[in-house]
Amino acid sequence: MNTVADSAVNLKDESVEAVPEAVLGSSSKDIKDIDGPNKDMSTGDTNVQGDHSQGGTSLARSVSNATHDVLNQPPPLVDYDVFGTDTALVEGIGQYGVDPDQLDKLKLVGARAGSAEVIEMGFMANTYTPVLRTHDRFGHRVDEVDYHPAWHSLMGEAIGYGMAAQPPRGANTGHGVVPVPGAGTGLPTHLVRAAMLYMWSRAEAGVGCPMSMTYAAVRALRLEPSLASVWEPLLASTSYDPSLRYAMEKPGITSGMALTEKQGGSDLRANTTHAEPAGDGGWLLTGHKWFCSAPMSDVFLMLAYTSRGLTCFLLPRVLPDGSRNEFFIQRLKDKLGNKSNASSEIEVDHAYAWMVGEEGRGVKTVVEMIASCRMDALISSAGLMREALAQAIWHTRHREAFSRPLYDQPLMRNVLADIALEAEGATALFLRLARATDTEGDDPAEGQFRRLAVAAGKFWVTKRATVAIAEALECLGGNGYVEESVLPRLYREAPVNSVWEGSGSVNALDILRALVKEPAAFEVYFDEVSKASGSSSILDGAVRKLKSSLASFDSEEDAQWQARDLAVRLAVVLEASLLYRYAPQQIADAFCRSRLGDSGSSMLAGQVFGMLPRDVDTGIILERSAPI
Ligand SMILES: Cc1cc2nc3c(=O)[nH]c(=O)nc-3n(C[C@H](O)[C@H](O)[C@H](O)COP(=O)(O)OP(=O)(O)OC[C@H]3O[C@@H](n4cnc5c(N)ncnc54)[C@H](O)[C@@H]3O)c2cc1C
Repeated sequence: MNTVADSAVNLKDESVEAVPEAVLGSSSKDIKDIDGPNKDMSTGDTNVQGDHSQGGTSLARSVSNATHDVLNQPPPLVDYDVFGTDTALVEGIGQYGVDPDQLDKLKLVGARAGSAEVIEMGFMANTYTPVLRTHDRFGHRVDEVDYHPAWHSLMGEAIGYGMAAQPPRGANTGHGVVPVPGAGTGLPTHLVRAAMLYMWSRAEAGVGCPMSMTYAAVRALRLEPSLASVWEPLLASTSYDPSLRYAMEKPGITSGMALTEKQGGSDLRANTTHAEPAGDGGWLLTGHKWFCSAPMSDVFLMLAYTSRGLTCFLLPRVLPDGSRNEFFIQRLKDKLGNKSNASSEIEVDHAYAWMVGEEGRGVKTVVEMIASCRMDALISSAGLMREALAQAIWHTRHREAFSRPLYDQPLMRNVLADIALEAEGATALFLRLARATDTEGDDPAEGQFRRLAVAAGKFWVTKRATVAIAEALECLGGNGYVEESVLPRLYREAPVNSVWEGSGSVNALDILRALVKEPAAFEVYFDEVSKASGSSSILDGAVRKLKSSLASFDSEEDAQWQARDLAVRLAVVLEASLLYRYAPQQIADAFCRSRLGDSGSSMLAGQVFGMLPRDVDTGIILERSAPI
């Protein structure tokens, strides 16, 4: 067994304390200071690669163009207030209510997410992608992944804000309308954390994966109180320590999830990894995982078969005696997007682990964890969509075609406003679901609502993000197709949110499962949308149709055939109802007429952007999303 001492740990062996003050004062310094194989790629050299924050290299600025002046190009969108300029977010947060200190945190995260420095870190982390080092120079197996220092700065800052922290249950009694977890503990509520993740995804979405898995892992661990009491405080820590050592010795840790195997990811019962008793109460796991993101995490939730069936385990990367667990990274995936984040294939060979939850009930143990990750996929997609929209508005305001700003031209306004409506719906949805996560401890109906609405919302928002971002990219013309514009990165990132944590159809089928096993969730859902009844005859008609369609399946085959249509209707109707309750009437009307109008079906909602009714007030819609 290799020991940690064998390894060439390239990162600074100390925790990156990521409290906001420290971060604000030192993040660029941290990048330069961290030694490692990427040192020659540190930000000290980044202007050579291209200065995304300033729109060109210093060399380019000092040399004049011989043949022409550069005209009609927008200034870079940097150093802007990602929170304050997102009216839907600010209003939504205000309506649900947050403590003043949490509001301050949101403002801070918004300022950082729009800062030239963090934007540049996002470019660096995605340009200099993770590299697997299987062995050290002497031939010892080390299984380490080297990241660009910008990755660690982004991780440290996000963790410092509490983006990976699951707030403790029932820790509060004095907040707002109802008690919410986390308030009074200094950790963000689920609502505030969701808003932070949404904003951070705009700057760099890759770190969202380890944030999400660490946050979600606690949901599974709580089924094993003896483990949760030990590990939860470390997983909810606001300290980031990327060094490879026994997790209990660190001020804060991250968690991965290793569920998917070669032969199947949706159908986890197809897993072949198996576990045998270690003789001391622990277990030894042997097998492989085909996808294991963030493989440098400190612990992993892993599924394996015991003689009683598929079971969940907690597997540490490093063992209590400091030696490495039998955890081997075979290779890193060469992915379409999500480049800053490493995703690996791994093998475990008698790797030590502790059982989590009931033996043989592994799927049940991880179900809440997966639902939590699905919710984060939805949040991240809403953030990607919002960022693409902000970039498109910014560009078209500064770019003229045919002697007129693009932004002022009717067809461009139609396209932009349509994307903005999509972003409005997604924002209203994720905020409401995050609020339900805060309140479900006191109100089980909120939990039922969340589970059903996350399945439908994950299906819809993650799918819409890819289409909306493609359209926003086109608003920048050729510039949008070029990496420096950030639109290609947003576009490449978008599909993964639909694929992982249950691909689209799996979420749609989950809704059918709820229809059979948890019909009360549908009652709660219709109670929720009925809070907007009478606001719009179109919406009322769509709700009636939705209800009747639920009763119309004549067989299991028929229900499966229509599952996607049902998911879309559930999501769009819910978004519309939320907009009537929480957004200006013009926004809700425009959303409702363009998505549910005429036939009242979801059929129109998937068509191209830029087909809004003629009399929609694009001014009101676009001003709410303008980045400055
Ligand atoms: C970048 C990336 C990172 C990932 N990181 C992790 C990780 O850290 N840990 C981890 O465990 N997994 C991870 N995954 C794996 C991911 O969760 C799976 O890819 C996903 O769950 C789908 O599983 P699969 O790839 O085996 O596809 P399959 O299960 O083979 O499904 C293929 C397609 O069939 C559809 N389908 C399945 N069943 C049905 C049905 N009954 N009817 C209709 N359609 C159906 C699915 O929706 C999907 O579209 C990652 C994936 C990606 C792309």
